[in-house]
Amino acid sequence: MQEQARVVIIGSGICGSSIAYHLAKLGWKDIVMLEQGALISGTTSHAPGLVGQLRSNVSLVELLKESVKLYRTLEVEGEHGFFEVGSLRVASSKARMEEIERQHAHALRIGLATEIVTAREAQELFPLMDITGVEGALLLPSDGSARAPILAEAMRRAAEAEGVKVFSRVRVTGIEVVNGRVRSVTTSAGAIKTEIVVAATGIWSPRIGDLAGVSIPLQPMQHQVVWTEALPELSPDKPMANMRDPDNLVYFRQEGRSLVMGGYELDPRPFAVTAIPDNDNPTNQRFDSAHFDSLMQGACRRVPRLKDAPLSKRLNGIESFTPDGEFILGEAPEVGGFWVACGFCAHGVSGSGGVGKALAEWIVEGKPSLDLSSMDIRRFGGKQMDAEELRARTHEIYHDYYSKIGH
Ligand SMILES: Cc1cc2nc3c(=O)[nH]c(=O)nc-3n(C[C@H](O)[C@H](O)[C@H](O)COP(=O)(O)OP(=O)(O)OC[C@H]3O[C@@H](n4cnc5c(N)ncnc54)[C@H](O)[C@@H]3O)c2cc1C
Repeated sequence: MQEQARVVIIGSGICGSSIAYHLAKLGWKDIVMLEQGALISGTTSHAPGLVGQLRSNVSLVELLKESVKLYRTLEVEGEHGFFEVGSLRVASSKARMEEIERQHAHALRIGLATEIVTAREAQELFPLMDITGVEGALLLPSDGSARAPILAEAMRRAAEAEGVKVFSRVRVTGIEVVNGRVRSVTTSAGAIKTEIVVAATGIWSPRIGDLAGVSIPLQPMQHQVVWTEALPELSPDKPMANMRDPDNLVYFRQEGRSLVMGGYELDPRPFAVTAIPDNDNPTNQRFDSAHFDSLMQGACRRVPRLKDAPLSKRLNGIESFTPDGEFILGEAPEVGGFWVACGFCAHGVSGSGGVGKALAEWIVEGKPSLDLSSMDIRRFGGKQMDAEELRARTHEIYHDYYSKIGH
């Protein structure tokens, strides 16, 4: 492995791949990407990949729009990584209907083409839906579904074609800091002198931060999803729109002939950073059916077909949550040259295309072209957050993810 690099990116997931891709596109050379396991073996390997663009934070919406614009163009040997199937946000209560009307107005104001549709119109786009109690839905036709590993691989291959060097099975074990600046990284395959390190390390980020003396307040959380066996009603040639039903706490997407379902239970379970296993599938934990039951009940209310649909796959994935629900991006205040891109709060597939572009601009030009202050790591002031407080705040973010009605 080389002994010197202009930039060392840690992590080969969708985020690290996007940063490498965008730095290379900006003409930077001498970039190394290091991955401790097999390539794309973190959370990106199993994300169901609903790609949504509508959020209240306008800068975040711009990042998400950038992702969609990029993802439309990506493929690996003819396999596409993004399918523009549209998304429905269903209102199963009057209060939620008011919320989606406000969201519709917000979307139009910031240039996202949404429509309010009736329950029947929503059902045409998602025929497995029982519309009892549905007041209406918000349709965003340019949302879609991703195959995150394909997107990550497409970006990594494009970066490699521009000269980025990628090493799998190489773990970063230390970061040397001299006079408050990064000097080198130590790895299982030797040291690399560098002035810029980018931690695109998902749930491992607090550990990488510790290596440099940087505090990254991020809490890994368990997040469960199931896949049905192939359902004869579903055709891959005419895929249903993605559907979110926040009043029932659940989301759905079609994948091939399968229906994928997950959601945000009210009693989320954190996962200790220290408990992340050192094996080939570290972000995939034992599925807990009892804990999933409340979501399954909500899902069956909206999609009764699920009651007798055999499941082909159950996943308990681990994803990062932050104390305020915003991403963690930028250069750490404690250590010059130590950059982070993590804390994606279950929309890292949706976000990474835009995040990679913004972070690359920020590194190269000294500032991003968007106002990213709400996501800037400096908002935490370089202070270590009390572990209990971090758990309490991330619990609230996860709990409220669907249940809270925004204004
Ligand atoms: C069940 C589930 C459902 C989800 N659904 C969606 C969804 O529908 N839509 C959406 O947008 N997002 C979704 N997400 C979130 C999304 O999957 C993640 O935000 C995203 O994949 C994170 O990508 P990443 O590249 O930051 O991290 P990862 O893919 O985890 O990559 C980090 C990499 O860093 C490597 N690494 C760590 N430490 C070291 C080290 N010391 N040395 C070298 N390498 C190291 C790891 O091995 C890993 O490969 C979901 C997540 C889960 C768990």
